[in-house]
Amino acid sequence: MLKRLLLPAAILIALTACTTACTLACTPAGSSAGTPATKVRPTKNVIFMLTDGTSEGALAAARWYQRYMTGDMSFNLSLDQYICGLVQTHESDCPITCSAPGMSAYMTGVLGRIGNVSMNPLPHPEHDFYPVDPDRAGQPAATVLEAARLLKGKATGLVCTVTFPHATPAAASAHYPYRWAYHPLALQQSCEGLDLLFGSGTDVLTDEMRAMIAGTGATLIEDDVAAFRTFEPSGRKASSAGVAPSSNRLWALFGDDMTEFEIDRVDSEQPSLSEMTAKAIDMLSRSRKGFFLMVEGSKVDYGAHSKDPVEIITELLEFDRAVKVATDFARKDGNTTVVIVSDHGNAGIQIGGGGYANYEANPVDSIYYGIRGVKASSWKMVQRLQGCAEREIPAVFKEWTGIDLRPAELSDIRKNMNRVEGDYMQVANTWNLQGTIAKIYLSRSNLKLIGGDHTGEDVILGVYNPRGQRPTGVIRNTQLNAYVCQLLGLKGAVSWEDKTLGPNPRNPLFALADEIFAPHDKVFEGLECSIDESGDVPVLRVGAAEAGVSLRIPAFHNTVELERPDGSVDVIRTKAPCVWNPDTRKFYLDRSLGKLTVKL
Ligand SMILES: [Zn+2]
Repeated sequence: MLKRLLLPAAILIALTACTTACTLACTPAGSSAGTPATKVRPTKNVIFMLTDGTSEGALAAARWYQRYMTGDMSFNLSLDQYICGLVQTHESDCPITCSAPGMSAYMTGVLGRIGNVSMNPLPHPEHDFYPVDPDRAGQPAATVLEAARLLKGKATGLVCTVTFPHATPAAASAHYPYRWAYHPLALQQSCEGLDLLFGSGTDVLTDEMRAMIAGTGATLIEDDVAAFRTFEPSGRKASSAGVAPSSNRLWALFGDDMTEFEIDRVDSEQPSLSEMTAKAIDMLSRSRKGFFLMVEGSKVDYGAHSKDPVEIITELLEFDRAVKVATDFARKDGNTTVVIVSDHGNAGIQIGGGGYANYEANPVDSIYYGIRGVKASSWKMVQRLQGCAEREIPAVFKEWTGIDLRPAELSDIRKNMNRVEGDYMQVANTWNLQGTIAKIYLSRSNLKLIGGDHTGEDVILGVYNPRGQRPTGVIRNTQLNAYVCQLLGLKGAVSWEDKTLGPNPRNPLFALADEIFAPHDKVFEGLECSIDESGDVPVLRVGAAEAGVSLRIPAFHNTVELERPDGSVDVIRTKAPCVWNPDTRKFYLDRSLGKLTVKL
């Protein structure tokens, strides 16, 4: 009968001493089968920039808005010059994607289902576009960020303007079947060893996460822009900002759930997306082996859900300023690629549309004149109006928007004063105060939205590459993942030109996933395993009574505790946090933990 015991602790520690980059366990198995198609030469640094929920029409709307507002008719978006194609966005079973599987496809080469954060989907045979592999169903899918860190020893960072476990930053750096489960996602992000994370989400942080972040050697700054601006890597800081940096690593969070919209942002209180991008590049570019940075312009999507054209436009303009920061660096550096993309369309904003009379003869003025005085997002106006007396509403509205409310509009606002939805996803579908304000903005412009929901259109792709090697044409989302794998120089990387429908099993990220996310019943085959779900996170216990030792493995942590009969505990660190999937009821963890066992 096959039986296994845990190895003595001394051997365990020796086994796990080599958990840094490029251990033998991380070499992709089967990589020799890679496709030697189009050679894309790796670049030292990769900056992946995603503007969430951005319909292509938003570019023209933002461009003409900026020209109109500044009078500079020569204005173009910085990203314009890098556009080289379009990307098809979809899930494994649905043409319109949710942000989580949308970003996951780019990060992992795996298509997921609604809500999946870098996970292999469960099969959905009636709807699947290709045969979803039942053997991988529910297994986490390794990301390019994880590959950059584990296989290439690169520094890694995330920059966003929403809570850090939100779909896009989470899909780069964590795994779970359900995107709104912030706690398990944030735990993984807190312990995995990101070199930096700038964004929002102080509400999500727990004391345990704060301790985990500190444990990676990172300084954590919460709602302190002065400390952020004066933070100097290498354990130095420029001034006495009250923060004691301990290393080159930095987390900086502003706001409990999201940063202010750019149009509302007060510079003395929060940094902009472009400022955070500049700081991230400055810090990460000190890495000898290069870096992978993900930057998300998170809130074009929010504006689209709210049907607020001003939010859409001003957020996209700020994303574009971040693109300029990144591409300016890349051009100067000469060894950096910048990828610019969206994850799906949203709201399909257009200049013109139904009801715009004489559109072929009207000047730009006719489109934007009515919203030229808007100085606040509809989101912010909700707070401003709720904070003032009813009789002050028309004056406050005029002060921040330049708009004289019509009697029917004032009536609508009054009716909806106390009916604000907390969930931004509801705004598009709910008659509430923010929706009312956004509708007034829209009515004063000659912009049109087709709705307030995700769309199935192709999205923009832009790339700056120092050798001009970039995908062109209309590509699949999984092809963009292949391109990033090529840029990172992953052994056996498939060519971006490979149009395989669905995940390509030769993608080296699959081999990495098999190393860092192996199912616990395979890793500990023959050992007694039990799952305790009574605590904050599920805990896997592994052991055999006759061995005298047992393992305690908490989900979403990168620590394994070896407990001996005498009560002493050794803590072993895994290469990536282990993941519990409640659907398969399995832990997915570092395969090298299997070396802790011996056959009897
Ligand atoms: Zn999205």
